[in-house]
Amino acid sequence: MPAPPDRARGVRRAVVMTMGALHDGHAALVRAARARVGADGQVVVTVFVNPLQFGPGEDLDRYPRTLDADLRVAADAGADTVFAPAADEVYPGGEPQVRVAAGPMGARLEGAHRPGHFDGMLTVVAKLLHLTAPDVAYYGQKDAQQLALIRRMARDLNFPVEIVGVPTVREPDGLALSSRNRYLDPAGRRTALALSRALTAGAAAAHEGPEAVRTAARRALAASRDAAPPLETDYLALVDPADFREVTGEFAGEAVLAVAARVGATRLIDNVRVPLTPPGAAGDPLTEGTP
Ligand code: AMP
Repeated sequence: MPAPPDRARGVRRAVVMTMGALHDGHAALVRAARARVGADGQVVVTVFVNPLQFGPGEDLDRYPRTLDADLRVAADAGADTVFAPAADEVYPGGEPQVRVAAGPMGARLEGAHRPGHFDGMLTVVAKLLHLTAPDVAYYGQKDAQQLALIRRMARDLNFPVEIVGVPTVREPDGLALSSRNRYLDPAGRRTALALSRALTAGAAAAHEGPEAVRTAARRALAASRDAAPPLETDYLALVDPADFREVTGEFAGEAVLAVAARVGATRLIDNVRVPLTPPGAAGDPLTEGTP
């Protein structure tokens, strides 16, 4: 029997959560949400710079706040409502005592470099899901570990919402759109291109296995170590999207090649999906045809 249409299943409201300074990556999420709920459904965009997910010395105070422009971007992309609460509306009693713990996956990669970040992120996502009560929520693959953790939270804690990931929107030269790109001057932007260049180089080595992917990507990053301004890499990792552990040569399926690096005071992250075939599997050009 064919599945009932979304409307019959009660998919009426979609939410897109953001920290504002909206760009075309955010707009892609809003457009996907609108396409899903149809003209009669409701698309809610939240704009909230969540203090709980920023560590000491991070960019909470200087994070771009551009609400008037955000209202236009959201409306143009098809949103009905922008929910932009103040911090004391979201946390009326100050910082919450009870929080969501991101667990082991939340301690890897981004979590290792930003302690507490994912607990703070999941806590506000849980609150915003309760406050907006959507049937479906859209997140970008740009923040792959965040997306994986939100999926895991929804599953582990029985949130009655469908979580959907949307591919990363990039500039024509490959740079992933990010609100933090506004911090970059032209020279910094040139250095920042090393992230997407490294991911492309890594993905091109997929048929040679995980180590070749890492080596190719690392080499591309190293080429920008002496650029002006220089690129300082926090991590480069090829991981299983289910748990964000490094994959081995036996891994089959889509791994995630993820990078985080700093250009001056600007910290950027990016990732791509890398299809891996273990040695000896069908389709491996080195072994295909052998008995
Ligand atoms: P942010 O405002 O940076 O917290 O991002 C809000 C949402 O937009 C998150 O789900 C991000 O993953 C997503 N997002 C940010 N940048 C992009 C991009 N370049 N392409 C697609 N989605 C993005």
